[in-house]
Formats: sequence, C-alpha cells, structure tokens
Amino acid sequence: MALLFDPEDPPEVPPKGSHPLIWRLAWMMWTEHQQDITGCCRASSCRARWQEWPCEQHHLAVAGLHAATGNRRKAPPNRAQPRRWTRGHEPGS
Ligand SMILES: [Zn+2]
Repeated sequence: MALLFDPEDPPEVPPKGSHPLIWRLAWMMWTEHQQDITGCCRASSCRARWQEWPCEQHHLAVAGLHAATGNRRKAPPNRAQPRRWTRGHEPGS
C-alpha cells in the first residue's frame, strides 16, 4: 500500500481520504515530539524524564498518522527506560 504522506515530514493538512480529526491530533503530537539538538525529545513531558528520541509518543504519533489514512500499521514497541544521571556524571560536570 502506497503511503499518502511522507512519515519524515507529514503535512499539517490531512491528506485526501484521511480522517481529519485523527490526523490533526496525531500531527500535533508528531510536531511536539521531535528530536532536539541534544538527541532527546524536545517535548516538555519527555524532557522532564530525559526521554531519548524517538520516544513512545513519537511512535504513537506516527501510528496515528497511519491510522488516520486507514493504514493499520502497528507502532513498534518502545521499552526504553528514561535516562538517569548518576552522581558525578551530571550534565555539565
Ligand atoms: Zn517525546
């Protein structure tokens, strides 16, 4: 099945034939959960946990974009643990 959008750069406007509400919700989540220059997710909810990118929400957003276009692609499992800084290895030390 041909994709109706570029998963690396999905358009804000829902592709023709897709579910507009699901698309917009997934697109908003997709734009929020992007990689920042440190390699972590830039979303505040993920930054608070030093969540590596791609985070679970990013995978969910991509799955949502596919779901909006009627493509039943499953999100890959993401069991990554939040990164913890140990004593003596704090950022900037
Ligand atoms: Zn995130």
